[in-house]
Amino acid sequence: MALNTALPRLVALAGGVGGARLAHGLAHRLDPDHLSIIVNTGDDFEHLGLLICPDLDTVLYNLAGVHHPDQGWGRADETFHVLEEAARLGHDPWFRLGDKDLALHLLRRQMLAAGLRLTAVTAELARRFGVVHPILPMSDDPVRTVIGTPEGELAFQDYFVRQRCRPRMVGMRLEGLETARPAPAAVAALERAEAVVICPSNPYVSIGPILALPGLRERVQARPTVAVSPIVGGQALKGPAAKMMAELGVEVSALGVARHYAGLIRGFVLDQRDAHLAPAVAALGLRVLVTDTVMTDTAARVRLAGEVLAFVRELIRES
Ligand code: GDP
Ligand code: CA
Repeated sequence: MALNTALPRLVALAGGVGGARLAHGLAHRLDPDHLSIIVNTGDDFEHLGLLICPDLDTVLYNLAGVHHPDQGWGRADETFHVLEEAARLGHDPWFRLGDKDLALHLLRRQMLAAGLRLTAVTAELARRFGVVHPILPMSDDPVRTVIGTPEGELAFQDYFVRQRCRPRMVGMRLEGLETARPAPAAVAALERAEAVVICPSNPYVSIGPILALPGLRERVQARPTVAVSPIVGGQALKGPAAKMMAELGVEVSALGVARHYAGLIRGFVLDQRDAHLAPAVAALGLRVLVTDTVMTDTAARVRLAGEVLAFVRELIRES
């Protein structure tokens, strides 16, 4: 593991696949005292009596190195015997849960039933997977993303998995936000952080819920913060981010993302394919790093993490 001489104490904000990829790269560069990952729980839902936490688990599986190599969720070398049998017995298997994945879900259910908060449950699961970096749910209270469509509202996983993001998004709402508090460990990590990295996650449904919790946006804003664009060449590499931007009337480009975060961040990381947008991003008052941001393998994750860290250190020196 890398030595941290002069390396900053960082918090990374992450959703699922894009967030997990960069968080994994950062975890190769920083020891656990220098990197905490605050993860979206707005996608969480109850299913088959279990609490499903897609983004927490994607981050956990990636840091543990047991993630599915290209699917963006779930585990490598997975089987689906339980789900197949449940389907034979009449269960609609619209939400895929593999056998190994189910083992984690059963343990999470047991720990929650014993009275542990989600932060403690996640820490314990991470420990059992040998993950040493803190993976912190944004809140221990339920916050549930609801997508507004012309036909009415859809719970997030209904929209995302069952309907494959086909309905047009006309708005979103975070159920439970009025009473939810940010998780104390997430707040403490932000308090200790010298800088924040917003991973290349969906700005609306992955990063939005984290920033919506009371006090979190302000704490991010108070630090040198860098965002990595999840939009590359006018497209999302996975998921509905680009479709959502179009439906919300926002320019579908890395510049659109930079505008979304302007006022919150000081630096923005653009893919080399979008280098022509650098002057327009700089005109928003942001420092710009142009590089290859497509994390095709572990080496690419670690390389991008190194470049992001160097960029963050520059911003810290200037602040
Ligand atoms: P989800 O919760 O699994 O949907 O994942 P996130 O919200 O964390 O990530 C979705 C976003 O990650 C999409 O907009 C993708 O374009 C982006 N993304 C995924 N992999 C990469 C990558 O290697 N590089 C960059 N720049 N963006 C990525
Ligand atoms: Ca997600």
